[in-house]
Amino acid sequence: MIIKPKVRGFVCVTAHPTGCAAHVQEQIDYVKAKGPIQGGPRNVLVIGSSTGYGLASRIAAAFGSGAKTLGIFFERPSEDDRPATPGWYNSIAFTNAARAAGLYAANLNGDAFSDDIKQQALALIARDMGPIDLVVYSLASPRRTHPKTGVVHKSTLQPLAAAYTNKTVDTDKGIVSEVTIEPADEAATADTVAVMGGEDWEMWMDALAGANLLAPGATAMAYSYIGPVHTWPIYKDGTIGRAKLDLERAARAIDAKLKAHGNGQAFISVNKALVTQASSAIPVVPLYISILYRVMKEMGIHEGCIEQMQRLFATHLYNGNTPRFDSEGRVRVDDWEMRPDVQAKVSAIWPQVTTENLAQLTDIAGYRTEFLKLFGFGLPGINYDADVEPHVPLT
Ligand code: NAD
Repeated sequence: MIIKPKVRGFVCVTAHPTGCAAHVQEQIDYVKAKGPIQGGPRNVLVIGSSTGYGLASRIAAAFGSGAKTLGIFFERPSEDDRPATPGWYNSIAFTNAARAAGLYAANLNGDAFSDDIKQQALALIARDMGPIDLVVYSLASPRRTHPKTGVVHKSTLQPLAAAYTNKTVDTDKGIVSEVTIEPADEAATADTVAVMGGEDWEMWMDALAGANLLAPGATAMAYSYIGPVHTWPIYKDGTIGRAKLDLERAARAIDAKLKAHGNGQAFISVNKALVTQASSAIPVVPLYISILYRVMKEMGIHEGCIEQMQRLFATHLYNGNTPRFDSEGRVRVDDWEMRPDVQAKVSAIWPQVTTENLAQLTDIAGYRTEFLKLFGFGLPGINYDADVEPHVPLT
C-alpha cells in the first residue's frame, strides 16, 4: 500500500508504519545521545504508552535506564484497506528496538479503564516483571466506560462559567477565526472529571498494591497542563482543568499510600504544550502552540515530548536528584514555557495574528511538520512513494 497523509480537520486518518518507526527511532537516539540516566527505574508500567508524553516516558525509561516496560494503550490495528493508528506502529517499533537492545518490553492493547485490562496487566507483571517501581499515567481519552457502573462518560473541552470567545486556527487550512464555546453544565463537567480525573489512576494503583506488585519506594506520576492566560477559560479554568484538579487530588491520595510503602511518592508533572493528537483537538490551543513554538525556537529553548521527558527523568526523578515541587506539590517541566520573557513575547504576538500574517508571525509551518510526524509523515529517509506493508502484528 502507498500511504499518504489524509488530514481531516485536526486528525490525520492515515499513518505510515516505517515513518512512525523512524519517529520512534529519533526519540530513542535522542535519549541515548543524552547518556545513561543513573539510578533509574527497573520495572515500569506506562498507561497510555503509544503516543505523545507516554511514549516519550517509556523511551526515556527503557533507553535511558535500561528499564523493563509494560505499555498499555488503545489503538486500532490495520483493516483491509486502511492502515493502523500511529500508536499501533509506534508500539511495534518501540518493542522491536527495545528487544533488539536486550530489554524486556510487553504491550496490552485495550481499554485501560476496564477491569479486564487491569487484570491482564497484573498477571503479566507477576509472571514476567516483578514489582513495579515506576507507574506513568498518561491517558488522554474522549470517553470512559466506568468499570463499576457501566456508564459511558464523555469528556468535553468547555469553559465553566460563561461562553468563551477567542481566536483559533484551523491548522490544516491556515485560517484564523473567532470561536465561541458554550459553557458546560454540571453534568458535562462531572463527565469530564470521570474521564480525565484521577479515579482510574487510583484504581490502577489499588490494583497493583492489592496484588503486591508495587516495589517499596515506588513512584507514580501523571501529567497535567496549566498554560497561559490566553487558554485558561478553555483549559485550566474549563472542564479539563476541573479534571486535572481531580488528578491532583488523586496524586495526594496515592502519595499518602505510597509514602507508607517504603517511602514511595506520587505527584503530577506539569508538562509543556506540545503538538499531540490530544492537544490538536482543543480549540484555541493550536494557535497558542504555533506562537509558542516560534518564540521558544527563536530563544533556543524549544523542546518536544522526548526532550521534556528526558529532562524530567534526568533532572527530577533520577541521576541522584529528587523532584522539585511548586507550592502545590507539582513538578514543573513547563518552566521554560511559563518564563515571563517567553509569555511576554507570546502575548505581544497573540492580538496581531490574522489569516494573512499567520505564516510570518507564528510557527504554523513547524506545527504542521510536527503534526504530520505524529502520523509518520515527513521523516527523512523514508520514500513515501514506495509500497509499504500496513498489516503489521503487535507482538
Ligand atoms: P496522546 O493522545 O498522544 O496519548 C494518549 C495515550 O492514551 C495513547 O497512548 C492512547 O492509546 C492512550 N489511550 C487513550 N484512551 C485509552 C484507553 N481507553 N485505554 C488505554 N489507552 C488509552 O496524548 P498526550 O498529549 O501525550 O497526553 C498524555 C497526558 O499528558 C494527558 O494527561 C495530557 O493532559 C497531558 N499533557 C499533554 C500536553 C500536550 O500539550 N499535549 C501538555 C501537558 C500535559
